[in-house]
Amino acid sequence: METGLRDRVAIVAASSQGIGRATAEAFAAEGCRVAMCARNRETLNQAADKIRGQYQTEVLAEPFDVTDAGAVRDFVSAVVQKFGSADICVTNAGGPPAKGFLATTIDEWKRAVDANFMSVVYFAHQVIPHMQKKKWGRILTITSISTKQPVPDLVYSNAVRAAVVGLVKSLANEFGKDGILVNNVAPGYTATDRLIDLAKARAKASGKTEKDMLDAFAADSPLKRLGDPRELADTIIWLASDRASYITGQTILVDGGVYKGM
Ligand code: NAD
Repeated sequence: METGLRDRVAIVAASSQGIGRATAEAFAAEGCRVAMCARNRETLNQAADKIRGQYQTEVLAEPFDVTDAGAVRDFVSAVVQKFGSADICVTNAGGPPAKGFLATTIDEWKRAVDANFMSVVYFAHQVIPHMQKKKWGRILTITSISTKQPVPDLVYSNAVRAAVVGLVKSLANEFGKDGILVNNVAPGYTATDRLIDLAKARAKASGKTEKDMLDAFAADSPLKRLGDPRELADTIIWLASDRASYITGQTILVDGGVYKGM
């Protein structure tokens, strides 16, 4: 499949591991120049070096926290200075802690809003003017199956991700005229450190083992397995590509059929 992505500039936030990292790799494999960030400099640099070595492509990697609006502004500015544009922006951040409502705290609510919603606002603010200049752009948010149905014990995610969908729909409406497509990708149970943390939390609460929990997640899917981060990445590549040029404002689930709604 010809994606038309060669030489595009792809920003992938929170990309030192997991789905973000797999996505950065997938853009590099398509011949994009890639800009990556995460909080831990060492893990981020290791990921960036591996991608540079494997795909012989240019990679800009800057350690910062996506809840820092000024750092996001400086990063996008550095990307445009180095690569000349910001064609594709994939927003991402770590998921909030797994809790039931009465165990939640006001500070954690604010952190969840900052990490999983405001970070999308920060990136969108910075990249859209550059995309408008080129009359071409793709914004892709990574959220969760919780945008379609609440996940037990993930009340922060269940509540905050819905705001991202509202933003995605609004941006898709407002900037479609500028050739900017905005979509949301919603993972189900995907084999990353995040899922292991969730399995640990559930195991602790239920007296079962981490493996029991991971097996239960897999059993929930009609495909009877967990997702691979590369399966998320491939969906993002397709949505960013010229082959998905009439799709905007959508949430695409990559959940192996876990969501049972029509
Ligand atoms: P992960 O924990 O494996 O990786 C998260 C990445 O984000 C890491 O690179 C980490 O360094 C970076 N990061 C976290 N907070 C950051 C911040 N404030 N600033 C900069 N970088 C930050 O997670 P993952 O499984 O790849 O998940 C990615 C997203 O998808 C998360 O929001 C997660 O909640 C969501 N999600 C994951 C699953 C799953 O099963 N893995 C399911 C549904 C939703």
